[in-house]
Amino acid sequence: MYVYSLPMTTRFRGITVREGLLLEGPAGWGDFCPFPEYADPEARAWFDAAHEAAFDGWPAPVRDTVPVNAIVPAVSPSVAHAMVVASGCGTAKVKVADAPGSLPDDLARVEAVRDAVGPGGHVRVDANARWSVDEAVVAIRSLDRAAGGLQYVEQPCESLADLAAVRRRVDVRIAADESIRRASDPLKVAVAGAADVVVLKCAPLGGVRRALEVAEACGLPCVVSSALESGVGLAAEIALAGALPSLEFACGLGTGALLAADVVPPLAPVGGLLPVPRTPPVPILDEALAADPERTAWWLARLARVRTP
Ligand SMILES: [Mg+2]
Repeated sequence: MYVYSLPMTTRFRGITVREGLLLEGPAGWGDFCPFPEYADPEARAWFDAAHEAAFDGWPAPVRDTVPVNAIVPAVSPSVAHAMVVASGCGTAKVKVADAPGSLPDDLARVEAVRDAVGPGGHVRVDANARWSVDEAVVAIRSLDRAAGGLQYVEQPCESLADLAAVRRRVDVRIAADESIRRASDPLKVAVAGAADVVVLKCAPLGGVRRALEVAEACGLPCVVSSALESGVGLAAEIALAGALPSLEFACGLGTGALLAADVVPPLAPVGGLLPVPRTPPVPILDEALAADPERTAWWLARLARVRTP
């Protein structure tokens, strides 16, 4: 076992270092990396996903490559433009509503991103449940104009009822993310009526197989997104995207660029595509990327608590 501590290139989701624990089994390596603030019951699904990768392996893919989107954190318009151009992706996801009163900045960033992807590209936004229904309606209408048409807006509000209310009042497609992956039973979320698209992440859903069951249960087009894992965990998310029966939208799997260093060689999309792995990559257990003894002990204790039924 190895606990990593990876520096990030940009502050994202309020963090600047990504930590996790790599475990090895007969099928390869798994990445156990629930965010530090998650309680043990929620972290359990992340363990199941790591265990699946290490002990069971993944189901066979139905495609060899998956299209990915560029990811744009709350950065200036010029940095956003450069990030999207450098990614080579035709679809970009822009984080919005990062701070109260951020709408003017969000509009400028979205406009710059449209310029970078061109008229044939796609721009989507993610509000991470930060808006009320009324705020969402106002923001989505202006962002849709600034973007010259949004592909969809991810999790504008927190509850499914609020997503449904927003969805009735705007012409932009709504995607559900947190509503699915943080639900106590993701298989039972009645998402129809509240969303047009579902975002799947195999780590919080308990593995590739369980995420495929959620995809089937929700009956909507699905997009796979990373949970900001190391390259080992990211491989499981790409395996999920490779195994989905249908894949209509580019996936949020180009997050390797957010890590300044990784335990495997960085996986950069080529022409907006990532290859689908059959088995987890073998990490390089470099001393320089290992967590300090205190954090290592914290992760080992967490793993011990979570893996005991
Ligand atoms: Mg999201």
